[in-house]
Amino acid sequence: HTVLGKLTEIMIKNPDISPSENLPDKDPSMFHKRYLKWMKDLGEGHFGKVTLYLYDPANDRTGEPVAVKALKQEDGNVESWMKEIEILKSLYHSNIVKYKGCCTELGGQVVQLIMEYLPKGSLKDYLPKRKLSMPQCLMFAQQICEGMEYLHSKRYVHRDLAARNVLVDSDNLVKIGDFGLTKYIPEGEIYYRVREHGDSPVFWYAIECLKENKFSFSSDVWSFGVTLYEILTRCDPRKNPPMKFKEMMEEPQGQMTVMVLIKLLERNRRLPCPKDCPPEVKMLMEQCWAADPRQRPTFRSLIEKFEGIRR
Ligand code: ADP
Ligand code: MG
Repeated sequence: HTVLGKLTEIMIKNPDISPSENLPDKDPSMFHKRYLKWMKDLGEGHFGKVTLYLYDPANDRTGEPVAVKALKQEDGNVESWMKEIEILKSLYHSNIVKYKGCCTELGGQVVQLIMEYLPKGSLKDYLPKRKLSMPQCLMFAQQICEGMEYLHSKRYVHRDLAARNVLVDSDNLVKIGDFGLTKYIPEGEIYYRVREHGDSPVFWYAIECLKENKFSFSSDVWSFGVTLYEILTRCDPRKNPPMKFKEMMEEPQGQMTVMVLIKLLERNRRLPCPKDCPPEVKMLMEQCWAADPRQRPTFRSLIEKFEGIRR
């Protein structure tokens, strides 16, 4: 009795030695690889691969479906991968995909990220199949802004906002779903500088990201403008941003380099206005693409504007 009392007392004082930390079975965020049953591949981007599994510890198919994200190559950047997991773990918002836990292999090596499964997939998978009404488009756009405002309030820049990274929960709810390039901006600083473009999603990038590798809260707003364009074109592959920018080039045969894209943007060329786009929304989109980052709206002011337009 007294020994148990003493032990409890020690555990209260030292939460990190409590049994739930030592016995993975008691920790609902620890998923065991042996209980994950493959169902289907959901998609992949540059760095990650996402797979649908049934997590079925009882082994009777009563388990829950979960989306599992893993690094694509074994030799990928493990450090930034662990960061992505830590970031998602720290985010709680109705417009951000829910973190469920991790799956560690013996030795704690390959770590997979377990998140809620959204059966409708990304906006890019979903929109071309639907005839989404303008009010629904604007509702989705506002929800993305709500998730982004929350992210920025935590001083994170997303750096990869695009329709492919927004997941659809239902006809009335979308969630931001990929934080692979997200970076923290320390208090007092205004941008994050990257070393190389590599496989960067350049057609979603603001002009200063292309020219100076500077990523800020305002450059996310630019990418939101491109995402809004994608929503309004219902992610029609014939109108997607890379395609449209290539059409705008003088010599369509030539390679679309970052330099050519910069020149286009410097001449104030922008993506065309999607058809049926209300004039107030066109204005918002253009404000997001202001050459001067300081002239762009914040996500807070975008939310207010969408509320006004949707009223
Ligand atoms: P990457 O970092 O490689 O770009 P993403 O996290 O964007 O990976 O996921 C790639 C694709 O997988 C998405 O575009 C989407 O189609 C699908 N996907 C990702 N997460 C989920 C999820 N939670 N539920 C359903 N589909 C998902
Ligand atoms: Mg992605």
